[in-house]
Amino acid sequence: MKADMEKMVSLCKRRGFVFQSSEIYGGLSSCWDYGPLGVELKRNIKEAWWRDIVQQRDDMVGLDASILMHPRAWVASGHVDGFADPMVDCKECRQRWRADDAKDGKCPDCGGQLTEPRMFNLMFKTFFGPVEEEAATVYLRPETAQGIFLNFANVMDTARKKLPFGIAQIGKAFRNEITAGNFIFRDREFEMMEVEFFVKPGTDEEWLNYWLEERFNWYINLGINRENLRLRQHTKDELAHYARFCYDIEYLFPMGWSELEGIAHRGDFDLAQHAQYSGRDLSYYDPDSGERFLPYVIEPSAGVDRSALAFLIDAYNEEPDKDEIRVLLRLHPDLAPIKVAVLPLSRNEALIPMAKDVHAELRTCFMTQYDDAQSIGRRYRRQDEIGTPLAVTIDFQSLEDNQVTIRERDSMKQIRVPVAELTRTLEAKLSGEPLDVLPPGGSYWLGFSN
Ligand code: ATP
Repeated sequence: MKADMEKMVSLCKRRGFVFQSSEIYGGLSSCWDYGPLGVELKRNIKEAWWRDIVQQRDDMVGLDASILMHPRAWVASGHVDGFADPMVDCKECRQRWRADDAKDGKCPDCGGQLTEPRMFNLMFKTFFGPVEEEAATVYLRPETAQGIFLNFANVMDTARKKLPFGIAQIGKAFRNEITAGNFIFRDREFEMMEVEFFVKPGTDEEWLNYWLEERFNWYINLGINRENLRLRQHTKDELAHYARFCYDIEYLFPMGWSELEGIAHRGDFDLAQHAQYSGRDLSYYDPDSGERFLPYVIEPSAGVDRSALAFLIDAYNEEPDKDEIRVLLRLHPDLAPIKVAVLPLSRNEALIPMAKDVHAELRTCFMTQYDDAQSIGRRYRRQDEIGTPLAVTIDFQSLEDNQVTIRERDSMKQIRVPVAELTRTLEAKLSGEPLDVLPPGGSYWLGFSN
């Protein structure tokens, strides 16, 4: 079962994943603040991406370019002229819409008549320099990609890479989106995870297919159900100004199939434009063939916030539990904000020193949460609802045999393990080892029939 958007917004607020920006002033539309759990989720998504895209590959390096760039860069890239969405206004209620959100030609809110579409540039402008009147106008980047193209020669000169190779970047981007809504799906400030993968012309189709498969499987490996993902090719009139082909990885969000990640074939558009506008040679010299050429680019471009929403929605589950409903997030352990909860059975004084010792040891290895308020059942439910994969419970018997229980979120089964084996066992379980594989001295506990 998946969450509808209302449930997800409410869970995110109640548990501290996501808050409306500037809430105490009435909120700032399409801007969001990530709370104590949301920041961990986002960090985990970015770390998983960086690990798979940069750390584990020989053909990729990272970059962190500045958000503000020379204004000419956005002229060269085509964004000043072309980064615009068609916008319509309702003649009755005066609301403004993206033309593709008002497909039947009527205001989605009041059904009123709409104006003819006008193009609206989505880039935010600001002033560069201390004197506003004299300052140059610069843009907040609407994508991280251009920072990569501008550094192509710098990276080539320093990273000693041969084609095919890629440059990866994670960072904030800003778009003055026409319509807000759908929670963190469409924001005016958001984070992107982008790769520009440079290849020799002629090998581009092969690499496009490679990245389509690679990126599609990334979401599945991190727990998204296969049936909630699909690939859709852009039609000719949908293509962005720089793209030769483009595919969207779409997720079945509560409002319907929508883009999660775009994978575009940008050809040599960007390098050619920047070479022309800057006067710098941005061609690549192939030492094997002795040729010089502009590489083609395949660009997998993902949103951190949109991924977070998809992971949360896909992980959401409600299960009957006696007379109540158990709400749980079946988040992949790599993504779960808290990996291990440490829960003394009660607040009894005798249990606290051991529980604190166990917590002190575990927190050096994992993101943990110590909780001794309320009944143990309620504390398990709280951890289920925020997606904590494992809980460690210290009870009175622990004081005698130096063993504790590990409870698994999804099955609610428990095993009992010696404290000396605890860290290693938790590490193995978080890496996918089944709960019923016991460490030395361990035993089956609640939920196992034998
Ligand atoms: P859309 O058609 O939904 O506006 P787009 O085609 O303009 O998206 P791209 O330019 O391909 O989006 O951006 C790459 C990725 O960045 C998207 O797949 C999405 O995950 C993310 N993204 C783009 N715009 C936003 C936004 N306003 N808020 C949150 N994430 C975004």
